[in-house]
Amino acid sequence: MNEWIAQYVALPIHERLRGRRTMACYQSLRQSERLNSTDLKLLQEHKLLMLMRYCWAKVPFYQHRFQELGIEKEEQITLGLFQRLPPVERVDVREQLNDMVARGYKGRLIRHTTGGSTGEPLVFYTDMDKESWHNAAKLRGRAWYGVEPGSRQVDFWGSPVELDKLDAFRVFKDRWLLNHIVLSAFDLTDDGLARDAMLLRQFCPRLVYGYPTVLYHVALFMERQPEAFEGWRPELITCTSEVLYPNQRRKIEEVFGCPVGDEYGSRDGGHLAHECPAGRRHIPAEHVLLEIDKPDEEGVGELLVTNLDGYGMPLLRYRVGDLVKLLDDPCPCGMALPTLGQITGRMTDFIIGKDGTLIHSAAAVYVLRELSDLKQFKIIQREDLSIDVMLVRSPPYQEEQLKGIRRKMQQMLHMEIPVRFSFVDFIPPGKSGKYVTLVSEVKESPQ
Ligand SMILES: [Zn+2]
Repeated sequence: MNEWIAQYVALPIHERLRGRRTMACYQSLRQSERLNSTDLKLLQEHKLLMLMRYCWAKVPFYQHRFQELGIEKEEQITLGLFQRLPPVERVDVREQLNDMVARGYKGRLIRHTTGGSTGEPLVFYTDMDKESWHNAAKLRGRAWYGVEPGSRQVDFWGSPVELDKLDAFRVFKDRWLLNHIVLSAFDLTDDGLARDAMLLRQFCPRLVYGYPTVLYHVALFMERQPEAFEGWRPELITCTSEVLYPNQRRKIEEVFGCPVGDEYGSRDGGHLAHECPAGRRHIPAEHVLLEIDKPDEEGVGELLVTNLDGYGMPLLRYRVGDLVKLLDDPCPCGMALPTLGQITGRMTDFIIGKDGTLIHSAAAVYVLRELSDLKQFKIIQREDLSIDVMLVRSPPYQEEQLKGIRRKMQQMLHMEIPVRFSFVDFIPPGKSGKYVTLVSEVKESPQ
């Protein structure tokens, strides 16, 4: 499809038919991204107050919470109350789901389930309006790089289950009307990637979207077989869902010859930030309000999310679980949208030492990075705290090379635990299709 027609005709009609007003939200976001920080704050506060009053009137869960703060009527709801509301925990959603859905909500509710890194499924609802803003904010992030809505896009995505669910009509419609193709993130064998390369050359997407681990893998293949991709280069790579490590970014940018724009979000929290060409992750502050719970001396703490447009099942101060930091210095790109600093993932992303020391998996990655030509790895901490490291590298490393790594890991954890290395051809993704670099089987902290 001609990209202009896709952007101005096919995509708006498609979104409307699905019940979303994505393109109107997109236009609105393109306007509001030029606001200064004072006006952005006013807009946020206005939306927040409306949402709080709505929660008081329609959502039993928050009615109770406000009553606990001594509120008796709507006029008493003020912005000052917001930070006195206790954060909403996953357990609240699990146990009080029905009370969190707005009474008499007129829009359509969409049911979601998330596995989460803990493996316990969580059911929650979003609504069409919230999804429209969420999709629009993603589209805006790409437009910062000149990739407009309707541009040809290829995703490396999904678990086989999800891909099987796509019917032939949907595949046809996505490709020929919306310029969108989804490729499997599972078949990363040389044969599979050679087939993908053929399609990429033929379709010439401007945007490639996927997990950093997968795109890194594609880049390594592209580096080995550049002729398979001749004549095609994307304009933007967007990474999502996992932490993007600097070595992955360097390799992807070098091989694909274009910038990487990192996207950050979570299934339950929605789209929370998109990197701009100046390298900062901007928060779509018109749509979400982010706070840090109990920040440490460096400003890092657990992320709380409020979706300002989520009226079907409002989440006020929802604890996403990631450890992040908010930055307050202005971005060189000129936008006043606030920015997110480091994202260190969830508590479950940690290895634990006998004395209770928590080491983030990223630290272990730094140690492993000393190994040359390492293609993929996975760290598993067993219940007895010993560690298994799976490595993809051919030929395998010599025992001499591994000794130093083992010693460093033990030093990092302050303990002489067994660290075992094994070599495999390929490390498959987890059930959700997401690559997990660390799996902790430790049930409780030793302390
Ligand atoms: Zn910026």
